[in-house]
Amino acid sequence: MQVNLGGIVHLSTVDWKGLSSMVLFLRGCPLRCPHCHNRELQRGENLVELYTIINEIVKVKTVGCPLGSGQINLEEAYKRMTAIPSVNSIILSGGEPLVQIDQVIALAHAARGLGLKVGLETCGYYPERLSRLLKDRLVENRLIDKVFLDIKAALRDPEYEKATGIADVAPRVLESLRLAMSSEVPFEVRTAIFPEMPPATDLRKIANTLLELKKEYPKSKLDSMVLHQGRPIDREFEPVQMERIRALSRSVNGLVDVVIRDTTRANLAFNQ
Ligand code: SF4
Repeated sequence: MQVNLGGIVHLSTVDWKGLSSMVLFLRGCPLRCPHCHNRELQRGENLVELYTIINEIVKVKTVGCPLGSGQINLEEAYKRMTAIPSVNSIILSGGEPLVQIDQVIALAHAARGLGLKVGLETCGYYPERLSRLLKDRLVENRLIDKVFLDIKAALRDPEYEKATGIADVAPRVLESLRLAMSSEVPFEVRTAIFPEMPPATDLRKIANTLLELKKEYPKSKLDSMVLHQGRPIDREFEPVQMERIRALSRSVNGLVDVVIRDTTRANLAFNQ
């Protein structure tokens, strides 16, 4: 089996709170978000044998993440000395990882077999594939330990179409949200804040949807709604100030638990 790979971050300490994660970026995405942070991963092909990636996971799990070599300054030396040398989880990200559902399942099984926790970052476009994954088990255990679901705007068009560049995405995301709500897998809703989107009114609509669904699914494992600074790579603009994000969070606090996270990725290595 081959994986259309976008890249690997060998160690991230910001993507999954409390865990150190290896992040696998799978190529391909059905959406065209104007603020896409991984635009180069929306399409294209970089086929890598599955076993090559599994070997990389084994290496990072057993030996630790590659910290680089060569002449370094004091700051870099400190970073390396204090870096956590190995990971305890993998995150399947993208692009949209569920484009490659069979590969996601194979990688999740391999990581689970190595004793790693498995997280999935998804835009929610493929509810039927998400359902398959949420139900999958490895012996007695769930295959997936955590889902990070992106909700980009109020769950209806034209708001969602504006945020994703594609019409009729919102009902699919809503279905994914319902699936996550009804599942025993813990999950987190994430919303990136950009200068002009989503507006505060949309945030309240998202929070209200979460609140209503929490009533419908009282046993849901929804952890929190995380607001984070949107940082597109290939477009020039000033990211929204954290103070503004805090103010936005106050407008929805009380509806749901809101966490503000600075997700500047702690990259130690990124391989294309
Ligand atoms: S869902 Fe994610 S990867 Fe896909 S276009 Fe939107 S921001 Fe980019």
